[in-house]
This record gives sequence, C-alpha cells and structure tokens, in this order.
Amino acid sequence: MARYLGPVCRLCRREGLKLFLKGERCYSDKCAIERRNYPPGAHGQSRSRFSEFSVRLREKQKVRRLYGLMEGQFAAYFGIAERMPGITGENLLVLLERRLDTVAYRLGFATSTAQARQLVRHGHIEVDGRRVDLPSYLLRPNQVVSVATASRSKKVIAEALESSQRRGLPSWLALERDQSRGWLRTLPVRADMTMPVNEKLIVEHYSR
Ligand code: SF4
Repeated sequence: MARYLGPVCRLCRREGLKLFLKGERCYSDKCAIERRNYPPGAHGQSRSRFSEFSVRLREKQKVRRLYGLMEGQFAAYFGIAERMPGITGENLLVLLERRLDTVAYRLGFATSTAQARQLVRHGHIEVDGRRVDLPSYLLRPNQVVSVATASRSKKVIAEALESSQRRGLPSWLALERDQSRGWLRTLPVRADMTMPVNEKLIVEHYSR
C-alpha cells in the first residue's frame, strides 16, 4: 500500500494547524507549527488569496492527512459514506474513526496514527483476541481491541500508553489501561468529535 514518505511537519504547516503526526515532538517546542506557522515553500510567507475551490481542497487534504490516507483510499471512503443512509460528511468521519489504526491510536497504544498503523501491520494488535494486521479494519461497537500479550512489554507501547493520558479518551471509547485493551462503546456521533473539521466543505469538494 502506497504511503506518504515525505516530511510530515510540512503537512501541518501546509494546513496551518497541528495534525499530531509525530508523536512526542508534537507536544514540545520543537513542533514546526510553534516555530514556523506559515505554509512551506519559497512563497509560504507571501499573502495569498483563497478561492472557494482551494478552501474546500484544503479541508479535504487536512482530514485525509489527519488519518494518514492516500488520495484513492480517501475517495473510496467518501464513496462508501455517500451510499450510506444519513449525512455524508458525518458518515465519512465515523468511518474514519472506526478504522483499527485510528482506534489503536485513540486508545493510546501509539503516539501517532502512523505508529498505530505500523503496530497493526506488525501483528501487535488483536481484535476480540485474534490478531488483525489490517489497519483499515472497520470496528463495530463492543469489539475489543487489545495489545497482543507478547507485545505488552514493548517499551514503545508502554510509553505511548503512559503519554496518551494527556490526550484524553474520546467519549465513544472505553479503555482498561492496565489490561492494554479497549473498545468502542458506541459509534461516534458528530457532536462528540472535537477536531476542527468542516466536513461539509469536503462534501462540496467532491460534489463540484
Ligand atoms: Fe505537526 Fe507534530 Fe510536526 Fe508539530 S511536530 S508540525 S504537530 S507533525
């Protein structure tokens, strides 16, 4: 599966906000947004006018990067969200929050979505007691996500769990930290999602 291999802080600077793609560094004064909060590139500091198209594009890119997805994957999620009953933009966000790598990150097993994806791919994460190495696996409420027993002593996971306490736990998740396991209490609803996203702009972007 293709993935972005370039400098990730550049992505935050492009979107003008912290996307928390680099774990611990994001909470330190080394964060590029704290130091240079303007778009990357030679003309990053020059004033630019934003067209309606670019505003919608940026919103789509922001969410795509928050979840670490490539263009085709993101468009596929949008297609699924469109075919589901309900509001397309909200369906899209719920689908993204149900991904196994996202849930592993939110539960605190990793310091970033990218790290969570790697843990899943390397077989450190289980769903209902069985190893699942597919980061895009969509979880249903009450399925238990846990760190594999043999992986619980891994320093990187223990440190991630420790440091995740400052992030807090979304209301739709439950966590038994001492057991390194958690689950979706229920499907997330838009009112509970606090990230600064205007999903309506994404719908408009794909509807143009
Ligand atoms: Fe983004 Fe984290 Fe880099 Fe800051 S340190 S710019 S939040 S990836």
